[in-house]
Amino acid sequence: MADFKHPETIGLHGSDYRADPTTTAVAVPIYQTTSYQFKNAEHAANLFGLKEFGNIYTRIMNPTVDVLEKRVAALEGGVAACAVGSGQAASAMCIQNLAQAGDNIVASTDLYGGTVNLFKNTLRQQGIEVRFADPADPKNFEKVTDEKTRAYYGETLPNPYLRVFPIKEVSDIGRKKGIPLIIDNTASPVICKPLAHGAAIVMHSLTKYIGGHGTSIGGIIVDGGNFDWIKDRKRQPLLNEPDQSYHGAVWADAVPQLTGANIPFVIRARVVLLRDLGAPLSPFNAFQIIQGLETVALRMKQHCSNAEKVVNFLDGHKKVKKVIYPTNYQGEIRDRAKKYMQGGYGSLIGMDLGTKEAGAKFIDNLKMLYHVANIGDARSLAIHPATTTHSQLTEQEMLAAGVTPGYVRLSIGIEHPDDIVADIKQALAA
Ligand code: PLP
Repeated sequence: MADFKHPETIGLHGSDYRADPTTTAVAVPIYQTTSYQFKNAEHAANLFGLKEFGNIYTRIMNPTVDVLEKRVAALEGGVAACAVGSGQAASAMCIQNLAQAGDNIVASTDLYGGTVNLFKNTLRQQGIEVRFADPADPKNFEKVTDEKTRAYYGETLPNPYLRVFPIKEVSDIGRKKGIPLIIDNTASPVICKPLAHGAAIVMHSLTKYIGGHGTSIGGIIVDGGNFDWIKDRKRQPLLNEPDQSYHGAVWADAVPQLTGANIPFVIRARVVLLRDLGAPLSPFNAFQIIQGLETVALRMKQHCSNAEKVVNFLDGHKKVKKVIYPTNYQGEIRDRAKKYMQGGYGSLIGMDLGTKEAGAKFIDNLKMLYHVANIGDARSLAIHPATTTHSQLTEQEMLAAGVTPGYVRLSIGIEHPDDIVADIKQALAA
């Protein structure tokens, strides 16, 4: 892989892909194929026996997807990645790769709602218990850890609160016990590098900022190659006990021997979970997401600078009760935002308009901002959770989730900031 350091360059050149070897095409081709012809019987046997790596079947690997994986791994400062069909598949597989029935993980209370559903219901039905810890005090993670805890899980920039997660603080607790920290970095690609702060694994919904154009659903898991999986072999049985589905391979030993890299996590995710659960990213979606990745560094600058201009406009506006933004906090929470985010604080803003009616009316009067359940699009977006994503909850449950009746979430896009502010201004006036 070309060794570039700057995200602007990595988006365009951060893999060993230079041009298509057959046609010399510069744009990454869409290898829309299910399968790959083996050179001979020995070659096929070597691929299946993991004696050499190469293409077998698109459920497990694909050359278009491979370029995306290498570039996102480079962008995050990781060693290798595995792309999957959605952000949800990425978070589910991150947990299923370490925890089995009877195990538990400890997750932050500040998480995307879809992740909360997965953790509270579906994983529980599969026998994996998710214990929740308020990240305001990182020691809360330690308090609910026991010998069956296999992972810690947090989100860099979770809405609605937009309090930046204490990455190093929680990862330090976990590393002493052989517990890796998995970070969902969906809301802050480029501007936060969780692996550099001690996270072992980063995942993204590629659907958001990295894809950037609202065309394709995708997810990815990045292995930092920086975690000691054999420090306490009992702590991580799925990587340290013989895997009967691969002739008794012990992934924590076999993968470093085979690849020269400390990436048993991501290799197991691919060769066991993608093989068995089958949630690959399609080559066409990978192609679309690569187009986004090529400009994500540039877009993040515009997203962040536009969001700061909107925050400046909203702060002190007479119809806005409160503006929620990482740097609007005081004390330790603000310090964390400064410590972990570089080059901006993301494009998500919360604003409280006081009442449910005011929130709904604001949304109905927007002319340019789209009213959608999404974030991270190049276009500016808005949603009123009390009448949409959180409408099934009681008012008490909503408040516990940080959603007041008048809360509106904005995901600021890359249009000219004056046009964004003008639309918000007229909708507030209405
Ligand atoms: N993580 C975060 C922070 C998200 O916002 C989302 C989706 O909104 C997901 C994960 C799930 O991603 P996807 O919709 O690609 O499955």
